[in-house]
Amino acid sequence: MAVERTLSIIKPDATRRNLTGKIIAKFEEAGLKVVASRRLRLSQADAEAFYGVHKERPFFKDLVSFMISGPVVVQVLEGEGAIQKNRDVMGATNPANAAAGTIRKEFAESIEANSVHGSDAPETAANEIKFFFRDLDIVG
Ligand code: ADP
Ligand code: MG
Repeated sequence: MAVERTLSIIKPDATRRNLTGKIIAKFEEAGLKVVASRRLRLSQADAEAFYGVHKERPFFKDLVSFMISGPVVVQVLEGEGAIQKNRDVMGATNPANAAAGTIRKEFAESIEANSVHGSDAPETAANEIKFFFRDLDIVG
């Protein structure tokens, strides 16, 4: 399988509870390597743009409010099949449905405050990485 890069976001519910290190350990244990990392606070415009694909969904407004409620840690993860591997480590969107050992099963508070974001396909991964990082900021 090819080496890929994917975008991860550690969400405000997780930074608030000081879980950044525990979550990064899950990525590393799965064989994913952090090749770029930055802590920041999203503006409302940033969050609306990033989640633009969901703007017609009933939860959009709440999701944006949640994502700007505290700091996030945006990261590029690299590895064999990194996009799917990251999704596997994250677990299902709703922690009630997430498998044992996944980040969302262990740490998520709710279907909204579910601790992590991960790109879902090669094209979204490329676009989401560009949203936060310049090529120079990514060192494999
Ligand atoms: P995922 O993050 O697993 O790719 P989606 O792309 O479907 O999930 O949704 C984006 C984010 O929107 C979710 O991670 C979660 O924070 C929020 N979300 C999704 N579905 C709901 C819902 N039914 N109610 C509240 N928030 C939701
Ligand atoms: Mg998604």
